[in-house]
Amino acid sequence: MFTCASCAVTACRTGQLDQMPKNCPMRDREFFEKVLEEYFKPENHDFFVASAMVEAIGYCRWPRLREVAEFAGRMGYRRLGLAFCVGLRREAAVVERVLRKQGFEVVSVACKTGSIPKDRAGIPAGYRVNPGAYEAMCNPIAQAELLNRAETQFNICLGLCVGHDSLFYKYSEAMVTTLVAKDRVTGNNPAAAIYCAEGYFKDRLELDKP
Ligand code: SF4
Repeated sequence: MFTCASCAVTACRTGQLDQMPKNCPMRDREFFEKVLEEYFKPENHDFFVASAMVEAIGYCRWPRLREVAEFAGRMGYRRLGLAFCVGLRREAAVVERVLRKQGFEVVSVACKTGSIPKDRAGIPAGYRVNPGAYEAMCNPIAQAELLNRAETQFNICLGLCVGHDSLFYKYSEAMVTTLVAKDRVTGNNPAAAIYCAEGYFKDRLELDKP
């Protein structure tokens, strides 16, 4: 089993391969040589190099929104898809405006598109956020399909729920990047709970659970 997350050596980072732990995945050199070839496939190479360029050029200066625009520009994309959560509709409007200002065409689709009640998708009655009120299901598959239909070249995920985002990634024909990861408790900053896992968030992360 690989346990990189608890590795104290990180020989992969330093290049001191003689220090790698016993269960280090790097012991299988053949595997890594094979994977390296994947990056040279035409559909991956420019994409990968553009990612590295954006990382290096804007390092610690460009916010992620700028990085998305810079990356899309370097890839020559003109039409971008924006799949957003209706809870972040104001933010979606800002993102749309910023990207349009950069010369992109932006096709945006909200998560509640279709306005299909949750029970029609087989979600049990006990799982309503606002019982008694009209509650449309989130529809990440429709979001992806609508962006596919619009032939977007690159899709941006803005605040989709855990799992809904996964379905969106699965059905999107264009590559996807996540601009905002939904976290209702931390103002969409999931890292906050990680930074404070031993403190303020200890109980909510159930760290003391036997
Ligand atoms: S790849 Fe090897 S050296 Fe790098 S973190 Fe994982 S176990 Fe550690």
